[in-house]
Amino acid sequence: MNEERLQKVIAHAGVASRRKAEELIAKGHVKVNGEVVKELGTKVTPNDEVKVDEVPISKEAPVYYLLYKPRGVITAVTDDKHRKTVVDILEEVPERIYPVGRLDYDTSGLLLLTNDGDLDNKLTHPKYEVEKTYVAKVKGIVTNDDLKHLRTGVVIEHRKTAKAKTKLIRTNKDSSIVQLTIHEGRNHQVKNMFEKIGHPVEKLSRETYGFLTLKGLQPGDYRPLKPHEVEELK
Ligand code: URA
Repeated sequence: MNEERLQKVIAHAGVASRRKAEELIAKGHVKVNGEVVKELGTKVTPNDEVKVDEVPISKEAPVYYLLYKPRGVITAVTDDKHRKTVVDILEEVPERIYPVGRLDYDTSGLLLLTNDGDLDNKLTHPKYEVEKTYVAKVKGIVTNDDLKHLRTGVVIEHRKTAKAKTKLIRTNKDSSIVQLTIHEGRNHQVKNMFEKIGHPVEKLSRETYGFLTLKGLQPGDYRPLKPHEVEELK
């Protein structure tokens, strides 16, 4: 969830400059979810209700983007190590967007970005987990037994993964290309699943997210979601 400092959020909403916003907070003019907050470092998310002198600050209109994340980009808003982030790619978007879920630094593929905290919560909640299809290049020759193992579930961190779908796309001399469709979104899940069956991932890409695909996009390209796509995700 995208957390930001309260003074920044107030300034961003056009209520006051950052310095003035700090003053407003310190003097007790600001409420977060009904409580006066005087602490300057307080972090808020788009789901928090912020009021200045009892007036809710205006929220940005929600926006939704689909990015073809290239490899070598971090799924975050900012990075301590100054690596390029997915939000840097969409720098022309004025809204305070952030990624929905995560793709690893070396994973490419479909990533959504939004400023809509409700949709983010929904899409990343285990109850609603959306179906995601990955294509992995893995070490070694994947057998039918391996595929069955992936489909029925492998134990990662003491917990079995949910049922998955698999398709062997092809085998090369000493590697295989496998399509894996899962609903869950556990940390490094696809890499951990393949590691567990003895076929470490060499290359990973997310091809679909629910009904959304990368059609027409190249790595680094992005597009706004169409209104009907947004409706369907909600
Ligand atoms: N699973 C992984 O292991 N990595 C990703 O980036 C996405 C899913």
